[in-house]
Amino acid sequence: MSVFENVKENIDYVAKTMKLDEGEVELLKSPKRIVQVNFPVKMDNGRIRRFNGYRVQYNDARGPTKGGIRYHPKVDLGEVKSLAFWMALKCAVVGIPYGGAKGGIEVDPKGLSDRELESLSRAYVKSIHEIIGPTKDVPAPDVYTNPQIMAWMLDEYEKIRGEHSPGVITGKPIELGGSQGRGSATAQGGAFVLDEAARIQNLKPNKTSVVVQGFGNAGSYMAKIVSKMGYKITAVSDSKGGVLDEKGLDVGKVEKHKEKTGSVKDFVGAKNISNKELLELECDVLVPAALENQITKDNANKVEAEVIVELANGPTTPDADKILDKKGVMVVPDILANAGGVTVSYFEWVQNLYGYYWPAKEVHDKLEKIMRKAFGEVYSKSDEYKTNLRTGAWILAIEKIINAERARGNI
Ligand code: NAD
Repeated sequence: MSVFENVKENIDYVAKTMKLDEGEVELLKSPKRIVQVNFPVKMDNGRIRRFNGYRVQYNDARGPTKGGIRYHPKVDLGEVKSLAFWMALKCAVVGIPYGGAKGGIEVDPKGLSDRELESLSRAYVKSIHEIIGPTKDVPAPDVYTNPQIMAWMLDEYEKIRGEHSPGVITGKPIELGGSQGRGSATAQGGAFVLDEAARIQNLKPNKTSVVVQGFGNAGSYMAKIVSKMGYKITAVSDSKGGVLDEKGLDVGKVEKHKEKTGSVKDFVGAKNISNKELLELECDVLVPAALENQITKDNANKVEAEVIVELANGPTTPDADKILDKKGVMVVPDILANAGGVTVSYFEWVQNLYGYYWPAKEVHDKLEKIMRKAFGEVYSKSDEYKTNLRTGAWILAIEKIINAERARGNI
């Protein structure tokens, strides 16, 4: 089944629980605007190559659409539509005034020179500039796009418009209007919700072991932040493997080791383990922060954690979800757990619109308020409907979107 078929099935499931009518379900299953573009880029060898790109603006009832741009050879429309829908849910869960969008280009960016990457990014903006803008649709980085690419895109947009417009895109370098705290925002937001979940499960930080899969942007910041909060990080991993120390890892030293050797593996004093073993370790909290589909029907039964905080997008399959539910594992779903990133993107946009910039502490404190409140609201919603947190988060988000559509007279 394609990923968007899965999304529609999930919508049907939640719609039944919420008792939505046919018109509401149809609206939720229909992206508002799908743009597919094909554009030329002059390569370093002088040849012209053509690329396919997409931008899906799924729902804008609650505000301008918001969502990242992905560069990947396997980008396709079904994936972009699904990611755009999840963005609409994510923004609604944390209560920031955005709809959901996503974009992508079918390309292997690792095969391009810097000049080709810049030309590709500028050409994409030329193709979609009419439909983006600070009050229309605000892109951001996603897989294999970064602040430099956002800078090229901003520059191209501003050249076309003939004016400064930093609020058209987020995840920019600080010099071009990026926000303090954006780099660590996803992990920081995840740390706040982990802390809320631990409180509810009666887990005291210094007696709580945390295992993190993936030691990239999200995972390494998460390990550092949570360990600073007093939790014990017992295992971390990257694509090459993981390390375990039941007494607790010194995360700063693990990071230095990875910088030197390219992996967390072989960290002195710790035991090497595989990623498969890591997911099945005895621990209190498991944080998948790498890829999708990591906890499946094949290993869900072996998960020993009491709480899972989904920093990655889609790390748990629907089959695994059912098994974890039966085992009584609390799964803090991705649309809540990793929403810190888009929340600080929202702060960046607000600062751009005002032309007034906040210090790091202000960003941190505002993020904390939003994330802890969102956790409480998701928890109450799942309690009201007697469902798990994932369904609770979906219901909370869908209610907000439907209410906005109703207020506009669209349903
Ligand atoms: P990243 O590329 O910086 O890091 C990914 C990490 O996962 C790397 O350490 C890599 O070695 C590791 N990895 C890859 N394959 C693995 C495997 N099979 N087992 C274990 N580890 C493996 O990416 P990121 O930005 O940290 O994103 C990670 C996840 O978090 C993704 O699902 C992403 O969609 C999600 N996310 C990230 C952000 C953000 O702001 N960075 C925001 C929302 C969601």
